[in-house]
Amino acid sequence: SFQQTQDNVIPRYVRVNTLKTTLDDVIDYLKREGFSYQGTAMCLEDLDHLTGKTFLCDLHLKDLLVFSAKTDFHDHFLYKAGHIILQDKASCLPAFLLNPPVGGHVIDACAAPGNKTSHLAAIMKNKGKLFAFDLDAKRLSTMSTLLLRAGVTCHQLANQDFLKVDPQSSEYKEVEYILLDPSCSGSGMVCLRDEVSEPQEDGRLQALAAFQLHCLNHALQFPQVQRVVYSTCSIHPQENEEVVSACLQQNPGFRLVHLLPNWHERGHDPFTQCLRASTEKTRTHGFFVAMLERCPPQTDGEN
Ligand code: SAM
Repeated sequence: SFQQTQDNVIPRYVRVNTLKTTLDDVIDYLKREGFSYQGTAMCLEDLDHLTGKTFLCDLHLKDLLVFSAKTDFHDHFLYKAGHIILQDKASCLPAFLLNPPVGGHVIDACAAPGNKTSHLAAIMKNKGKLFAFDLDAKRLSTMSTLLLRAGVTCHQLANQDFLKVDPQSSEYKEVEYILLDPSCSGSGMVCLRDEVSEPQEDGRLQALAAFQLHCLNHALQFPQVQRVVYSTCSIHPQENEEVVSACLQQNPGFRLVHLLPNWHERGHDPFTQCLRASTEKTRTHGFFVAMLERCPPQTDGEN
């Protein structure tokens, strides 16, 4: 008979949409419905003990709740009203780590269907400018619906190839933060893993990696950009550490930021400033996140 070991199970993660509600209000609402709140997780194993209607706050990300894997919120009022977003923990990392300021100018380069865009808007408290691009018109129309439901208003959506967005345009002259979550092989998605488990066709990975590097290099061309978060839901080093490595070689004015010191699964050596995620070690889908920042201007040491 089929038995899944606990460390292969991804719990149900629920991000509270602070544009519409608060963490406390969602917790109270769920308690009134018979859910049992157990406080903040202290370690990974706490997540494995969730059963029935018990839930926790996540140990790394604020405004993220964790339920047992079988909990389904798709028909729930809080989901339909945009008060909660059903988003894997790993995919909450990029916006959380980029952490743009309220009122900032931000680009979400490959944005549809927009879960990270709505997360960025929540962090920005809907103030400032959030430029979101995607090449795929159909995914963008799904995204409009999602952003409307989430109460996002600070965005400007464009059906545009990010690689053709002109970094010198005066529209983007104040952009300091860029989130880049480009198309990837998806090899970290547990539901896809069976389909992708045969060795990836090398040519396909190479083409994806070339596209990803091109996008990352393009992001660094924006004149005021200070921080760029690069993420994929791939487990292949070719799409992750190797893209970052090539980009740093080509852009000596940027360096990696050491992310979340208390996150144990790190980028492959020597890119340990970056994060990896997996079902086994972080109870999430397979994921990779890097953050590049502009190096401070060189001084000649005379003052
Ligand atoms: N960030 C999204 C989210 O959290 O909901 C998921 C993005 S998905 C991994 C990658 C997206 O990149 C796809 O929607 C795809 O249409 C888009 N894309 C691919 N090539 C692009 C390009 N050259 N410019 C802009 N978007 C592109």
